[in-house]
Amino acid sequence: EHAKRVSTRSRIYDASMGEFLQQKQSKIERLGQAIRNEGLALYYQPQFDLYTGELIGAEALCRWDDEVWGQVSPVEFIALAEERGLIRELGDWVVRNASAQLREWNKDKDRFTGVLSINVSAQQFDSPYLVDYFLNSTKDIPTERLGIEITESIMMRYPEQAMKLLARLRERGYSISIDDFGTGFSSLSYLSRFPLSALKIDRSFVSAITTDKHNMSIVSTIIAMAKNLKMNVVAEGVETEEQAELLRNLGCHSVQGYLYGKPVSAREFEQAWLS
Ligand code: C2E
Ligand code: MG
Ligand code: MG
Ligand code: MG
Repeated sequence: EHAKRVSTRSRIYDASMGEFLQQKQSKIERLGQAIRNEGLALYYQPQFDLYTGELIGAEALCRWDDEVWGQVSPVEFIALAEERGLIRELGDWVVRNASAQLREWNKDKDRFTGVLSINVSAQQFDSPYLVDYFLNSTKDIPTERLGIEITESIMMRYPEQAMKLLARLRERGYSISIDDFGTGFSSLSYLSRFPLSALKIDRSFVSAITTDKHNMSIVSTIIAMAKNLKMNVVAEGVETEEQAELLRNLGCHSVQGYLYGKPVSAREFEQAWLS
């Protein structure tokens, strides 16, 4: 009786597992098609100087709206792309698209004068490929117009290799920001040795900044540290005036968040933020 129950259960398990894998397979195939057939889009979220209100940059964020799966979160499809060997193709697409957009915006006159940043995940930094591709396909764009955002895990994974790759970008004048700062465990000694331009304080700290003293001291420590290391600091996910006010008082330079603008299509970004 016991054996029978176990085997029934494992058959049910096998069936749903099979379905799960099948769905995943279909998703990965559709993602591959989306990358190849203009089924992805880049959205742009503005970043501002917290003191002057000036637009200082934008973050390019990848979107996938699939006929079958609907809007899939980038957290999910980036992970899927990494797992199934599509991240290179996807990353190339992001570089090509973001740079093409910048060329278009600045074709006749410099309409976009800030830094346009793209996101790069850990696996994209496992080899020099992405940095080579980036350098080769953006030669015609002033280096101060482009940046990359990397997470702390990249520095932790292959510190020596990451350092070399980042140095190649930084030497030429591209910006390098550490994304979701505070959520990883980067060693402070590494941090000072890396050629970084900015720390982006993770949204989880920013969202609780006005209600949780503990969070506020973390944020103020990050800001002080960035200052000492001569780095800019960007607060991510600012949603309320109270958060902005507190950040200003703590000496944070730059902000990004729904309070100022959500990620939007290139057209909408242009209409809202570029003259
Ligand atoms: P991230 O780089 O930390 O991007 C910031 C995320 O916070 C974005 O989510 C953005 O829409 C969201 N956000 C910005 N302001 C606010 C706010 O005020 N409130 C709230 N609740 N959220 C806010 P999104 O677009 O879903 O992207 C999620 C993550 O996916 C990104 O986190 C990044 O790690 C990854 N990602 C997105 N596009 C790409 C890409 O092209 N390449 C790679 N490798 N990763 C990407
Ligand atoms: Mg980012
Ligand atoms: Mg972030
Ligand atoms: Mg994030």
